[in-house]
Amino acid sequence: MAKTIQAIRGMHDILPGDIPAWQMLEAAFRELAQGYGYDEIRMPLVEKTELFVRTIGEVTDIVEKEMYTFEDLNGDQLTLRPEGTAGCVRACIEHGLIHNQVRRLWYCGPMFRHERPQKGRYRQFFQIGVEAYGMAGPDVDAELILMTARLWKKLGIQGLQLQLNSLGSREARRAYRDVLVDYMSARMDELDEDSKRRLRSNPMRILDSKNPAMQALIEGAPRLSAHLDEDSARHFADLLAILDDAGIRYTVNPRLVRGLDYYEKTVFEWVTDRLGAQGTVCAGGRYDGLIEHLGGRPTPAAGFALGMERLLALLEETGEQVAASPPHIYFVIAGDGLASQGLVLAESLRDWRPGLRVVVNCGGGSFKSQMKKADRSQAPLALILGEDEARRGEVAIKYLREKRPQESVNQAGLMAYLEELGWINE
Ligand code: ATP
Ligand code: MG
Repeated sequence: MAKTIQAIRGMHDILPGDIPAWQMLEAAFRELAQGYGYDEIRMPLVEKTELFVRTIGEVTDIVEKEMYTFEDLNGDQLTLRPEGTAGCVRACIEHGLIHNQVRRLWYCGPMFRHERPQKGRYRQFFQIGVEAYGMAGPDVDAELILMTARLWKKLGIQGLQLQLNSLGSREARRAYRDVLVDYMSARMDELDEDSKRRLRSNPMRILDSKNPAMQALIEGAPRLSAHLDEDSARHFADLLAILDDAGIRYTVNPRLVRGLDYYEKTVFEWVTDRLGAQGTVCAGGRYDGLIEHLGGRPTPAAGFALGMERLLALLEETGEQVAASPPHIYFVIAGDGLASQGLVLAESLRDWRPGLRVVVNCGGGSFKSQMKKADRSQAPLALILGEDEARRGEVAIKYLREKRPQESVNQAGLMAYLEELGWINE
């Protein structure tokens, strides 16, 4: 036998048993997005490498070591998208979607990062992303947060904590950068290799370090909040006031800097302590400078992305079971030459009631083995077309989940009989 081939490490099949939970989340989010006037957009999975280098920033974990980059047959440098914002902004500029107008968008799909696979951290993972363009005020920042809070409620997820911070304007960050460099430079011997490198290239990133040995140093660093510009400080205060009015609880976390370069002013994360080290379920913020940076007209923007695997893990952890949808009817065809009669009858059932779930036993087999399959299918009802039934123009009905005698009905009267049962509309 040939050697089997396995999936790539960190890239997972989503098996049929897990699909109901995924579909439930997707449907819940779609309805939520509609409730706030956000439209779906779908972008390619592959973009020019340059797009990500320019938007995410050269000195970030993603661009430095996590991107799946390759040269295609034309010699173009391409990258599997590690996140959605860059592609979304590119699409909006390219198609004039944000030209003199506000635009609310969302997308959902796989992202790719070459990270060390572990629970809640994969090399292909799914995000739902939301982006709001053309609105500069804290109102839309609040709207994005309210939207996420509503999603947790809708899904029955409790105990997620909202952390917020303001990164200030780019100018304020530049001033803070100098203060931070002074602080870090005086403690060179405590910096790890990554941080030493970042001290020169992008010192703010040091605050984002996950290295436990660096945490005390980071804790003692000067705070960005003391260096905020007036506009950002007001923006942040106004956002907090809206959240207070809306009854959203939050913690201001001055250490929150986010892993991507393009954020300014508001940043936020929803975190949980129930998923081990991978506790951030949703993260976002404002990135007013990005569109201009990519060659578009200056356009304020804010958004967030949530990690679907982490959210589903949290749902599972709370014991939430999403029910599958078994067939309504399992159709047993027990007799030679009855396949076409059976398939045609099943078609007429599907014509009669769109949405009816009918599984026809294809591939033959003994009556006994077909009944076993019927039972395993979880269908409440088996229809049986045997040689006797076929000769009489009838079909037998066997109840698989209740004690009730088997009956035979005329094929022409089958729909009326099923109608009587009532439950088939479910
Ligand atoms: P982390 O700090 O956990 O690496 P991040 O800051 O890199 O996250 P973002 O780029 O902001 O993450 O992505 C938004 C969300 O996508 C995260 O909060 C998380 O829920 C999810 N996510 C990010 N990377 C992964 C991954 N490798 N596997 C699974 N989910 C991920
Ligand atoms: Mg990361």
